[in-house]
Amino acid sequence: MPRLVMKFGGTSVATLDRIRRAAKRVGVEVAKGYEVIVIVSAMSGKTNELVGWVRETSPLFDAREYDAVVSSGENVTAGLMALTLQEMDIPARSWQGWQVPVKTTSAHSSARIEAIPSDNLDAKFAEGMKVAVVAGFQGISPEGRITTLGRGGSDTTAVAFAAAFEAERCDIYTDVDGVYTTDPRISSKARKLDRIAFEEMLELASLGAKVLQTRSVELAMRYRVRLRVLSSFGEMSDEAGTLVCDEEDIVESNVISGVAYSRDEAKMTLTAVADQPGIAAAIFGPLADAGVNVDMIVQNISEEGRTDMTFSCPVDQVLRAEKAMNAAKDRGELDFHELIADENTCKVSVVGIGMRSHAGVASQMFKALSDEGINIKVITTSEIKISVLIDRKYMELAVQALHDVFGLEKAA
Ligand code: ASP
Ligand code: MG
Repeated sequence: MPRLVMKFGGTSVATLDRIRRAAKRVGVEVAKGYEVIVIVSAMSGKTNELVGWVRETSPLFDAREYDAVVSSGENVTAGLMALTLQEMDIPARSWQGWQVPVKTTSAHSSARIEAIPSDNLDAKFAEGMKVAVVAGFQGISPEGRITTLGRGGSDTTAVAFAAAFEAERCDIYTDVDGVYTTDPRISSKARKLDRIAFEEMLELASLGAKVLQTRSVELAMRYRVRLRVLSSFGEMSDEAGTLVCDEEDIVESNVISGVAYSRDEAKMTLTAVADQPGIAAAIFGPLADAGVNVDMIVQNISEEGRTDMTFSCPVDQVLRAEKAMNAAKDRGELDFHELIADENTCKVSVVGIGMRSHAGVASQMFKALSDEGINIKVITTSEIKISVLIDRKYMELAVQALHDVFGLEKAA
C-alpha cells in the first residue's frame, strides 16, 4: 500500500476541535488507500510552557531531564489524535519516540536522528492498522534516555519517517498556506509559491523563513522526500500549499525565488590585527568555542602588515563574542587595536537557483538598494544567494525594493 506522512504543527492540534479537524483530513487520505503515519507537535504554547517550568525549577538544568519534561507535550497530542481517529472507526494507535524506536544521538535538546527501524510499525500495518500516530520531536539515545531534536524538531521527525518508510510525500500542515516569496507582513505583494527547489528552501529556511526546521529540509534534500507545506485552517485539497521538490520538477521559475531577512544581526570589526598565517584561526577558534554563530566574514586589505577583520553574528551574542576576543587578547594569543560592535544591522538576502545561469543579479540588487539610498556594509554570496548587511532601520524598505525589482509578485 502507498504510504503518506502527515505532520500537524502546534496550531493544527491546539484544541480538541482542531485535532478532530486534522483527524478528518487523515480519514480522507486513508479512504484513498494510504497507510498513514501522522506526526504530531505539542498543542501550541505547550512546549514554551514546559521549557519555562524547567528553567524556573533549575536554571542550570540537567539536559536529560529537560528532554524528559519538554518531550511530554507531544505524548499528549499523539494519544488524543489516536483516540480521535478510533472514534471515527479508523484503526489507529499512538507511538512515543522510544517505542518506534526513533534512535538518536545523545546530544540532549538538539539530538539528531540516526535510525528509524521500520519493523514495529510495519508489523502493525500488516495486522490492519491504518494510522500510526507518532509523537514528533523526540527519540531515544544509545543510553536509553529520552531525547529531543531542537525547537521545531517535529518537522524533522516527519521527514525522517517519510524517508524511512518510503512515503509518497510528506505533508506538513501548519498555520500558513505555503512558502511565500517574502514575508507577507513586510511586503503586501508577497506571493505564495506553488513549487520551490530543495536548495532554495534550505537557504530560505536557514536565512530565517521560519516555516520549516532547517534540518528537516536538509534531510528532505538528501533523501529526495517530496515535501508539501500547507495550512490546516483553509481548504485542505490535493493542490494546496507549496511543494518543496527537486529542481527538475520545476518547469518555470523566476531567476530569484525569494527575499529573506534576519533582523537582529551585529557587525563586529577587529581593527589592526596582524596579517600573518594563523590569524583567522586565532579569532574564529575562540569564537566557536564560545558558541558564537559567525555568519559573514570579511578580511580587509592589509597596510603595514596589519588588517581589519569583520564578521557578523546574532545581536544577542555580541557580549559573548567580546568576552572571547578580549580573553584571547589577555592570553596573548591575539593582538588587535579595537573591537567595534555595530548592533544596528540586519541581513537581507535574495535566493534563487536561476542565479546559476543568469548574470547581473548582484548588480541589479545593489542598484536597487542604492536607488533607495541604502548603504551596504558587508556582502556575501553563494551559488544561489546574495546577502547584504545593512542598517536595521532600512530592512522593510530593502525587502520591498528587492521584491519589486526582481518582479516576484508575478509568477514566471
Ligand atoms: N513542540 C516542539 C516545539 O515547539 C517541536 C515542534 O513543534 O516542532 O519546538
Ligand atoms: Mg514548526
